[in-house]
Amino acid sequence: MDTTTDNLTRRRFFAASSVAALTVGAAGCAGANITPGAAADLGGVNRRYQPDRSYPYEVRRTDAEWRAMLSDTEYSIMREGETEVPKSSFLWQETKDGEYHCKGCDLKVYDSRWKTIVDKGFSFFFHSEPNAVMTDIDGPNPAYGMRPNAEIALTEIHCRRCGSHLGHHLIVGNRPLHCINGTALNFRPS
Ligand SMILES: [Zn+2]
Repeated sequence: MDTTTDNLTRRRFFAASSVAALTVGAAGCAGANITPGAAADLGGVNRRYQPDRSYPYEVRRTDAEWRAMLSDTEYSIMREGETEVPKSSFLWQETKDGEYHCKGCDLKVYDSRWKTIVDKGFSFFFHSEPNAVMTDIDGPNPAYGMRPNAEIALTEIHCRRCGSHLGHHLIVGNRPLHCINGTALNFRPS
């Protein structure tokens, strides 16, 4: 499918269906108690976010360059849309003042002022830095306890400068939060 057709398909998809709100239950971001607020008609779409290589991101690298600069785990999360193992990145409980930068291009994407600690093992923020992230839609995520054929979509968050996958926008305890993989971030204390 060429890019133009792909974009048209996406527009039709957005027009025809609403992305379901995702409520994360007590088990948390990666737990099993996730209840979709409403089922979205995905029309058979079941996709994992991957950076659109045709999109003119400011920072672009070849696949070989990404693999050379990232660990296997970082690559799978940032370039293939995987989710880190909960609490595998110490940043989930980081409380010091400082800045959070994209590991793919060093853009400041989050700040400690907007961080909140949630005992789910990921880095949660109320919002990003201005002009720092973009969003896309993402299919059911098995890492969140979702069946591959679940009729639900997630709002995926990625770096606006290099396209690296950072995490998802989720509702956690009635709060809309950015649920971010610490693996995709570099923390710089103030
Ligand atoms: Zn980036």
